[in-house]
Amino acid sequence: MDNATSSRNILPLAKTSPRRLARSGSNRGRPPAGIGSPAPWDCGSQRAFRYARIRLMPAHNLGHPHLDQMVVGETGRRPPVVDWDNFPFSGELVIKPFEQPELPEPPRHGAAGPAECQSCNRPDSDYLWVDDNWRVSTTAEPPGLPAIVFLHPRAHHDLGDLTPPLVAELGSMIFRVERAYTAIGGIARVHMARWGDGGAHLHLWFYGRPEGFVQARGTWLATWDDILPPQPEAQWRENLRRFGEALLAGGGRIPTAME
Ligand SMILES: [Zn+2]
Repeated sequence: MDNATSSRNILPLAKTSPRRLARSGSNRGRPPAGIGSPAPWDCGSQRAFRYARIRLMPAHNLGHPHLDQMVVGETGRRPPVVDWDNFPFSGELVIKPFEQPELPEPPRHGAAGPAECQSCNRPDSDYLWVDDNWRVSTTAEPPGLPAIVFLHPRAHHDLGDLTPPLVAELGSMIFRVERAYTAIGGIARVHMARWGDGGAHLHLWFYGRPEGFVQARGTWLATWDDILPPQPEAQWRENLRRFGEALLAGGGRIPTAME
């Protein structure tokens, strides 16, 4: 199991469509809800929601230019995503209030170096595929989507301190993992994300959207993965076998036989 944190977000394919822009624009001018209390919104009805806005005033004296519009304990805006066709939820939505920023931030896992890093200390046998510079892992249990795979540099690097040779290889590896995932068959789109904000060792996430699952296009695919019932074990393993074979065709090795 990859122990990366699971905060997830990616841009939707149709975020800027005229229809969606019109929808989000239609929210303007609605009355604000009570500042300082959670704002309940009916995601399925434009008429029912209430609008909570942020007071444009500094509240923390943090001297932080990116947080001065945020007021701890108050709620933010109604996000346009609740009107997108791919938003997985309906009914009342309550946004959590802003929490107190933490500065300095708590260290990420592995920030102390390779000796303290789970990714560095996992043997090749924990991975689906490896070569001299990169390793690919997957989840411990079947996900809802056909597979979730993670691309890691073998050495202890985050994105910002990859060596120039690894930077040059990264694009090729992203391409190869995307192609290998598509080789599973029945995949309409492979999305890639750099989540794992709790870990210091770079790992990119790859999610495939099954053909026909148009409802899950874009931003919310990772959440739809958690909503879908898990893949049957045998199907998941077959998906990983096809993925591994396709990746192996471009080089590297598979440390353990995939059943
Ligand atoms: Zn590491």
